[in-house]
Amino acid sequence: MSENIEKVKCLIIGSGPAGYTAAIYAARANMSPVLYQGTQPGGQLTTTNEVENFPGYPEGVTGPEMMMQLQAQAQRFETDVRDGWVTKVDFSGDVHKAWVNETKEIHADTIIISTGASAKYLGLDSEQKYLKLGGGVSACAVCDGFFYRNQEVVIVGAGDSACEEAHYLSKLCKKVTMLVRRDEFRASKIMAARVKNTENIEILFNTETDEVLGDGQVVTAVRVFNNQTNEKHEIPATGFFVAIGHKPNTDIFKDFLDLDETGYIINEPGTSKTNIEGVFVSGDAADHVYRQAVTAAGTGCMAALDAERWLAAKDSAFEVSTSTYN
Ligand SMILES: Cc1cc2nc3c(=O)[nH]c(=O)nc-3n(C[C@H](O)[C@H](O)[C@H](O)COP(=O)(O)OP(=O)(O)OC[C@H]3O[C@@H](n4cnc5c(N)ncnc54)[C@H](O)[C@@H]3O)c2cc1C
Repeated sequence: MSENIEKVKCLIIGSGPAGYTAAIYAARANMSPVLYQGTQPGGQLTTTNEVENFPGYPEGVTGPEMMMQLQAQAQRFETDVRDGWVTKVDFSGDVHKAWVNETKEIHADTIIISTGASAKYLGLDSEQKYLKLGGGVSACAVCDGFFYRNQEVVIVGAGDSACEEAHYLSKLCKKVTMLVRRDEFRASKIMAARVKNTENIEILFNTETDEVLGDGQVVTAVRVFNNQTNEKHEIPATGFFVAIGHKPNTDIFKDFLDLDETGYIINEPGTSKTNIEGVFVSGDAADHVYRQAVTAAGTGCMAALDAERWLAAKDSAFEVSTSTYN
Protein backbone atom coordinates (compact mmCIF):
# COMPACT_ATOMS: atom_id res chain seq x y z
CA MET A 1 0.00 0.00 0.00
CA SER A 2 1.35 3.44 -0.93
CA GLU A 3 2.43 5.65 1.95
CA ASN A 4 -0.08 8.29 0.85
CA ILE A 5 -3.00 6.02 1.54
CA GLU A 6 -4.56 6.33 4.96
CA LYS A 7 -6.52 3.43 6.40
CA VAL A 8 -9.42 4.25 8.73
CA LYS A 9 -12.14 2.26 10.46
CA CYS A 10 -14.92 4.76 9.93
CA LEU A 11 -15.03 7.65 7.49
CA ILE A 12 -17.85 10.17 7.92
CA ILE A 13 -18.54 12.53 5.03
CA GLY A 14 -20.32 15.71 6.11
CA SER A 15 -20.57 17.89 9.20
CA GLY A 16 -24.29 18.56 9.64
CA PRO A 17 -26.41 17.15 12.47
CA ALA A 18 -26.30 13.69 10.81
CA GLY A 19 -22.50 13.59 10.47
CA TYR A 20 -21.73 14.87 13.97
CA THR A 21 -24.27 12.56 15.60
CA ALA A 22 -22.82 9.59 13.70
CA ALA A 23 -19.39 10.73 14.91
CA ILE A 24 -20.46 10.88 18.58
CA TYR A 25 -21.80 7.32 18.42
CA ALA A 26 -18.95 5.92 16.32
CA ALA A 27 -16.31 7.52 18.53
CA ARG A 28 -17.91 6.17 21.70
CA ALA A 29 -17.90 2.71 20.08
CA ASN A 30 -14.11 2.93 19.60
CA MET A 31 -14.33 3.27 15.83
CA SER A 32 -11.96 6.29 15.77
CA PRO A 33 -14.03 8.15 13.17
CA VAL A 34 -12.47 10.59 10.74
CA LEU A 35 -14.97 13.25 9.66
CA TYR A 36 -14.58 15.56 6.66
CA GLN A 37 -16.54 18.79 6.98
CA GLY A 38 -16.88 19.80 3.36
CA THR A 39 -17.33 23.37 2.19
CA GLN A 40 -20.13 24.07 4.66
CA PRO A 41 -18.78 23.18 8.11
CA GLY A 42 -21.83 22.66 10.32
CA GLY A 43 -24.15 22.13 7.35
CA GLN A 44 -27.42 23.84 6.47
CA LEU A 45 -28.24 24.99 10.01
CA THR A 46 -25.34 27.43 9.90
CA THR A 47 -27.52 29.49 7.53
CA THR A 48 -30.29 30.07 10.06
CA ASN A 49 -30.50 32.32 13.09
CA GLU A 50 -33.18 30.61 15.09
CA VAL A 51 -33.62 26.92 15.83
CA GLU A 52 -36.55 26.48 18.19
CA ASN A 53 -37.54 22.88 17.53
CA PHE A 54 -34.41 20.88 18.39
CA PRO A 55 -35.03 19.11 21.71
CA GLY A 56 -32.92 20.29 24.63
CA TYR A 57 -32.91 24.01 23.91
CA PRO A 58 -35.91 25.47 25.75
CA GLU A 59 -34.92 29.02 24.83
CA GLY A 60 -33.95 28.14 21.24
CA VAL A 61 -30.45 28.41 19.85
CA THR A 62 -28.83 29.88 16.77
CA GLY A 63 -27.94 27.37 14.04
CA PRO A 64 -24.17 28.12 14.13
CA GLU A 65 -24.05 27.84 17.93
CA MET A 66 -25.84 24.52 17.93
CA MET A 67 -23.49 23.13 15.29
CA MET A 68 -20.41 24.31 17.22
CA GLN A 69 -21.73 22.43 20.25
CA LEU A 70 -22.32 19.28 18.18
CA GLN A 71 -18.78 19.52 16.83
CA ALA A 72 -17.36 19.97 20.33
CA GLN A 73 -19.33 16.95 21.55
CA ALA A 74 -17.97 14.81 18.68
CA GLN A 75 -14.42 16.02 19.40
CA ARG A 76 -14.77 15.35 23.11
CA PHE A 77 -14.78 11.65 22.19
CA GLU A 78 -11.83 12.18 19.84
CA THR A 79 -13.49 12.31 16.49
CA ASP A 80 -10.84 13.47 14.02
CA VAL A 81 -12.64 16.45 12.43
CA ARG A 82 -10.92 17.69 9.29
CA ASP A 83 -11.29 20.32 6.58
CA GLY A 84 -11.75 18.80 3.17
CA TRP A 85 -14.14 17.88 0.39
CA VAL A 86 -14.54 14.30 -0.74
CA THR A 87 -14.24 14.57 -4.50
CA LYS A 88 -14.37 10.94 -5.58
CA VAL A 89 -15.21 7.50 -4.24
CA ASP A 90 -14.75 3.95 -5.48
CA PHE A 91 -16.98 1.30 -3.92
CA SER A 92 -16.37 -1.31 -6.61
CA GLY A 93 -14.00 -3.55 -4.64
CA ASP A 94 -13.76 -5.00 -1.15
CA VAL A 95 -12.03 -1.84 0.06
CA HIS A 96 -14.08 1.36 0.21
CA LYS A 97 -11.99 4.15 -1.26
CA ALA A 98 -12.46 7.90 -1.04
CA TRP A 99 -10.34 10.81 -2.25
CA VAL A 100 -10.22 14.13 -0.43
CA ASN A 101 -9.55 17.34 -2.38
CA GLU A 102 -8.70 15.19 -5.44
CA THR A 103 -5.47 13.96 -3.86
CA LYS A 104 -5.52 12.28 -0.48
CA GLU A 105 -6.68 8.67 -0.71
CA ILE A 106 -8.46 7.01 2.19
CA HIS A 107 -9.37 3.35 2.57
CA ALA A 108 -12.21 2.90 5.02
CA ASP A 109 -13.71 -0.20 6.59
CA THR A 110 -17.01 1.65 6.87
CA ILE A 111 -18.28 4.88 5.35
CA ILE A 112 -21.14 7.02 6.64
CA ILE A 113 -22.50 9.44 4.07
CA SER A 114 -24.01 12.58 5.63
CA THR A 115 -23.68 15.00 2.75
CA GLY A 116 -27.14 16.55 3.10
CA ALA A 117 -29.15 18.31 0.45
CA SER A 118 -29.27 21.90 -0.76
CA ALA A 119 -32.53 23.80 -1.05
CA LYS A 120 -33.09 25.30 -4.49
CA TYR A 121 -33.75 29.03 -4.68
CA LEU A 122 -34.97 31.24 -7.51
CA GLY A 123 -31.64 33.05 -7.67
CA LEU A 124 -32.97 36.62 -7.60
CA ASP A 125 -30.54 39.08 -5.97
CA SER A 126 -33.31 40.41 -3.72
CA GLU A 127 -34.21 36.87 -2.61
CA GLN A 128 -30.57 36.09 -1.76
CA LYS A 129 -30.14 39.42 0.04
CA TYR A 130 -33.02 38.81 2.49
CA LEU A 131 -32.07 35.14 2.81
CA LYS A 132 -28.56 36.10 3.95
CA LEU A 133 -29.90 38.79 6.28
CA GLY A 134 -32.30 36.28 7.85
CA GLY A 135 -34.93 38.87 7.00
CA GLY A 136 -37.89 36.84 5.79
CA VAL A 137 -36.77 34.42 3.03
CA SER A 138 -36.88 30.72 3.87
CA ALA A 139 -36.84 27.35 2.15
CA CYS A 140 -38.38 25.52 5.10
CA ALA A 141 -41.95 26.20 6.22
CA VAL A 142 -41.83 23.63 9.02
CA CYS A 143 -38.65 25.26 10.38
CA ASP A 144 -39.61 28.92 10.02
CA GLY A 145 -43.39 29.12 9.65
CA PHE A 146 -43.82 29.67 13.38
CA PHE A 147 -42.03 33.05 13.12
CA TYR A 148 -44.81 34.30 10.79
CA ARG A 149 -47.84 33.55 12.95
CA ASN A 150 -50.82 35.77 12.05
CA GLN A 151 -48.85 37.38 9.25
CA GLU A 152 -49.20 37.32 5.46
CA VAL A 153 -46.73 35.23 3.48
CA VAL A 154 -46.01 34.21 -0.11
CA ILE A 155 -44.89 30.74 -1.16
CA VAL A 156 -43.48 29.72 -4.56
CA GLY A 157 -43.86 26.19 -5.89
CA ALA A 158 -46.27 23.76 -7.50
CA GLY A 159 -45.31 20.26 -6.35
CA ASP A 160 -46.47 18.07 -3.49
CA SER A 161 -43.95 19.59 -1.05
CA ALA A 162 -45.02 23.12 -1.96
CA CYS A 163 -48.68 22.21 -1.38
CA GLU A 164 -47.83 20.56 1.92
CA GLU A 165 -45.80 23.58 3.05
CA ALA A 166 -48.53 26.04 1.93
CA HIS A 167 -51.09 24.04 3.90
CA TYR A 168 -48.79 23.97 6.94
CA LEU A 169 -48.37 27.77 6.72
CA SER A 170 -52.13 28.30 6.33
CA LYS A 171 -52.62 26.98 9.86
CA LEU A 172 -50.23 29.57 11.28
CA CYS A 173 -50.52 32.59 9.01
CA LYS A 174 -53.32 35.02 8.32
CA LYS A 175 -52.98 34.63 4.57
CA VAL A 176 -50.83 32.53 2.24
CA THR A 177 -50.43 33.50 -1.41
CA MET A 178 -49.15 30.66 -3.55
CA LEU A 179 -47.36 31.46 -6.81
CA VAL A 180 -47.60 28.75 -9.48
CA ARG A 181 -45.63 29.29 -12.68
CA ARG A 182 -47.82 27.22 -14.96
CA ASP A 183 -51.61 27.11 -15.27
CA GLU A 184 -51.79 23.98 -13.12
CA PHE A 185 -50.10 22.26 -10.19
CA ARG A 186 -47.44 19.59 -10.60
CA ALA A 187 -48.67 18.14 -7.32
CA SER A 188 -50.93 15.12 -6.99
CA LYS A 189 -54.66 15.82 -7.27
CA ILE A 190 -55.24 15.21 -3.59
CA MET A 191 -52.53 17.68 -2.48
CA ALA A 192 -53.70 20.30 -5.00
CA ALA A 193 -57.29 19.88 -3.79
CA ARG A 194 -56.17 20.40 -0.21
CA VAL A 195 -54.69 23.84 -0.93
CA LYS A 196 -57.52 24.81 -3.26
CA ASN A 197 -60.00 24.05 -0.50
CA THR A 198 -58.18 26.03 2.16
CA GLU A 199 -59.86 29.36 2.71
CA ASN A 200 -56.81 31.49 3.54
CA ILE A 201 -54.67 30.22 0.65
CA GLU A 202 -54.91 32.26 -2.54
CA ILE A 203 -53.41 30.55 -5.60
CA LEU A 204 -52.08 32.70 -8.45
CA PHE A 205 -51.46 30.58 -11.57
CA ASN A 206 -49.16 31.72 -14.43
CA THR A 207 -47.48 33.91 -11.86
CA GLU A 208 -43.76 34.36 -11.13
CA THR A 209 -41.67 36.40 -8.74
CA ASP A 210 -40.26 39.65 -10.10
CA GLU A 211 -38.59 40.93 -6.90
CA VAL A 212 -38.65 40.36 -3.18
CA LEU A 213 -39.20 43.84 -1.71
CA GLY A 214 -38.15 45.04 1.71
CA ASP A 215 -36.90 47.90 3.85
CA GLY A 216 -33.25 46.83 3.64
CA GLN A 217 -33.57 44.56 6.68
CA VAL A 218 -36.78 42.57 6.34
CA VAL A 219 -39.22 41.56 3.62
CA THR A 220 -42.30 43.77 3.29
CA ALA A 221 -43.83 42.64 -0.03
CA VAL A 222 -43.31 40.53 -3.15
CA ARG A 223 -43.67 41.96 -6.65
CA VAL A 224 -45.05 39.33 -9.03
CA PHE A 225 -45.85 39.21 -12.74
CA ASN A 226 -48.33 37.26 -14.79
CA ASN A 227 -46.27 35.42 -17.42
CA GLN A 228 -49.19 35.53 -19.92
CA THR A 229 -50.01 39.24 -19.68
CA ASN A 230 -46.78 40.62 -18.15
CA GLU A 231 -48.90 42.56 -15.68
CA LYS A 232 -47.13 43.23 -12.39
CA HIS A 233 -48.48 43.79 -8.92
CA GLU A 234 -47.25 43.80 -5.33
CA ILE A 235 -48.41 41.45 -2.59
CA PRO A 236 -47.81 42.63 0.99
CA ALA A 237 -45.93 39.89 2.87
CA THR A 238 -43.44 39.54 5.70
CA GLY A 239 -42.32 36.04 4.67
CA PHE A 240 -41.24 34.63 1.30
CA PHE A 241 -41.07 30.83 1.20
CA VAL A 242 -39.37 29.01 -1.64
CA ALA A 243 -40.59 25.43 -2.15
CA ILE A 244 -39.18 24.47 -5.53
CA GLY A 245 -37.23 21.43 -4.42
CA HIS A 246 -33.91 20.28 -3.01
CA LYS A 247 -30.81 18.85 -4.60
CA PRO A 248 -29.19 16.07 -2.58
CA ASN A 249 -25.39 16.30 -2.52
CA THR A 250 -24.86 12.81 -3.89
CA ASP A 251 -23.35 13.23 -7.38
CA ILE A 252 -20.06 11.57 -6.42
CA PHE A 253 -21.88 8.39 -5.34
CA LYS A 254 -24.06 7.92 -8.41
CA ASP A 255 -21.87 5.27 -10.08
CA PHE A 256 -22.00 3.00 -7.04
CA LEU A 257 -25.12 3.63 -4.96
CA ASP A 258 -28.79 3.26 -5.82
CA LEU A 259 -30.33 6.74 -6.04
CA ASP A 260 -33.92 7.75 -6.71
CA GLU A 261 -34.84 9.95 -9.68
CA THR A 262 -34.01 13.16 -7.74
CA GLY A 263 -30.67 11.83 -6.51
CA TYR A 264 -31.59 10.83 -2.94
CA ILE A 265 -29.68 7.74 -1.77
CA ILE A 266 -31.98 4.75 -1.38
CA ASN A 267 -31.54 2.99 1.93
CA GLU A 268 -32.89 -0.35 3.08
CA PRO A 269 -36.15 0.59 4.86
CA GLY A 270 -35.78 0.98 8.61
CA THR A 271 -31.97 0.98 8.43
CA SER A 272 -29.17 3.20 7.15
CA LYS A 273 -27.81 0.50 4.84
CA THR A 274 -27.17 1.30 1.18
CA ASN A 275 -26.82 -1.26 -1.60
CA ILE A 276 -23.07 -1.48 -0.84
CA GLU A 277 -21.98 -3.46 2.22
CA GLY A 278 -20.23 -1.26 4.77
CA VAL A 279 -21.54 2.02 3.28
CA PHE A 280 -24.29 3.72 5.25
CA VAL A 281 -26.32 6.89 4.75
CA SER A 282 -27.86 9.37 7.16
CA GLY A 283 -29.64 12.70 7.12
CA ASP A 284 -31.04 14.70 4.22
CA ALA A 285 -28.93 12.86 1.62
CA ALA A 286 -31.52 10.09 1.89
CA ASP A 287 -34.54 11.95 3.27
CA HIS A 288 -36.90 13.86 1.02
CA VAL A 289 -39.76 13.62 3.48
CA TYR A 290 -38.83 15.03 6.91
CA ARG A 291 -35.68 17.10 6.27
CA GLN A 292 -35.23 18.20 9.88
CA ALA A 293 -32.15 18.47 12.08
CA VAL A 294 -33.58 16.08 14.65
CA THR A 295 -34.37 13.39 12.05
CA ALA A 296 -30.91 13.87 10.51
CA ALA A 297 -29.37 13.39 13.95
CA GLY A 298 -31.53 10.31 14.53
CA THR A 299 -30.42 8.67 11.32
CA GLY A 300 -26.80 9.64 12.08
CA CYS A 301 -27.13 7.57 15.25
CA MET A 302 -28.61 4.67 13.23
CA ALA A 303 -25.77 4.82 10.70
CA ALA A 304 -23.08 4.61 13.39
CA LEU A 305 -24.83 1.71 15.12
CA ASP A 306 -25.32 -0.10 11.80
CA ALA A 307 -21.66 0.49 10.89
CA GLU A 308 -20.43 -0.74 14.27
CA ARG A 309 -22.59 -3.90 14.07
CA TRP A 310 -21.56 -4.57 10.47
CA LEU A 311 -17.90 -4.30 11.41
CA ALA A 312 -18.35 -6.53 14.47
CA ALA A 313 -20.13 -9.19 12.38
CA LYS A 314 -17.38 -9.02 9.76
CA ASP A 315 -14.63 -9.30 12.38
CA SER A 316 -16.25 -12.28 14.09
CA ALA A 317 -16.77 -14.01 10.71
CA PHE A 318 -13.06 -13.45 10.04
CA GLU A 319 -12.14 -14.90 13.46
CA VAL A 320 -14.30 -17.98 12.82
CA SER A 321 -12.80 -18.53 9.37
CA THR A 322 -9.20 -18.11 10.55
CA SER A 323 -9.74 -20.37 13.61
CA THR A 324 -11.14 -23.06 11.24
CA TYR A 325 -7.83 -23.03 9.37
CA ASN A 326 -5.62 -22.99 12.49
C1 LIG B 1 -32.52 28.08 6.27
C2 LIG B 1 -32.79 26.73 6.91
C3 LIG B 1 -33.35 26.70 8.18
C4 LIG B 1 -33.58 25.47 8.79
N1 LIG B 1 -34.12 25.47 10.04
C5 LIG B 1 -34.32 24.29 10.66
C6 LIG B 1 -34.86 24.27 11.98
O1 LIG B 1 -35.17 25.31 12.57
N2 LIG B 1 -35.04 23.04 12.54
C7 LIG B 1 -34.74 21.87 11.91
O2 LIG B 1 -34.89 20.81 12.49
N3 LIG B 1 -34.23 21.88 10.66
C8 LIG B 1 -34.03 23.05 10.03
N4 LIG B 1 -33.54 23.07 8.76
C9 LIG B 1 -33.26 21.78 8.09
C10 LIG B 1 -31.93 21.20 8.60
O3 LIG B 1 -30.94 22.19 8.49
C11 LIG B 1 -31.54 19.96 7.81
O4 LIG B 1 -32.58 19.02 7.85
C12 LIG B 1 -30.28 19.33 8.42
O5 LIG B 1 -29.24 20.27 8.48
C13 LIG B 1 -29.82 18.13 7.61
O6 LIG B 1 -28.66 17.64 8.19
P1 LIG B 1 -27.61 16.75 7.42
O7 LIG B 1 -26.56 16.45 8.43
O8 LIG B 1 -28.28 15.65 6.73
O9 LIG B 1 -27.02 17.67 6.25
P2 LIG B 1 -26.51 19.16 6.15
O10 LIG B 1 -26.84 19.98 7.32
O11 LIG B 1 -27.00 19.61 4.82
O12 LIG B 1 -24.92 19.00 6.10
C14 LIG B 1 -24.32 18.42 4.98
C15 LIG B 1 -22.82 18.44 5.23
O13 LIG B 1 -22.16 17.67 4.23
C16 LIG B 1 -21.00 18.34 3.78
N5 LIG B 1 -20.71 17.81 2.45
C17 LIG B 1 -21.50 17.74 1.36
N6 LIG B 1 -20.84 17.15 0.33
C18 LIG B 1 -19.61 16.84 0.81
C19 LIG B 1 -18.46 16.22 0.24
N7 LIG B 1 -18.45 15.79 -1.03
N8 LIG B 1 -17.35 16.08 1.00
C20 LIG B 1 -17.34 16.48 2.30
N9 LIG B 1 -18.40 17.06 2.90
C21 LIG B 1 -19.52 17.24 2.15
C22 LIG B 1 -21.36 19.80 3.85
O14 LIG B 1 -20.21 20.63 3.90
C23 LIG B 1 -22.16 19.83 5.17
O15 LIG B 1 -21.27 19.94 6.24
C24 LIG B 1 -33.27 24.26 8.12
C25 LIG B 1 -32.71 24.30 6.84
C26 LIG B 1 -32.46 25.53 6.24
C27 LIG B 1 -31.83 25.56 4.86
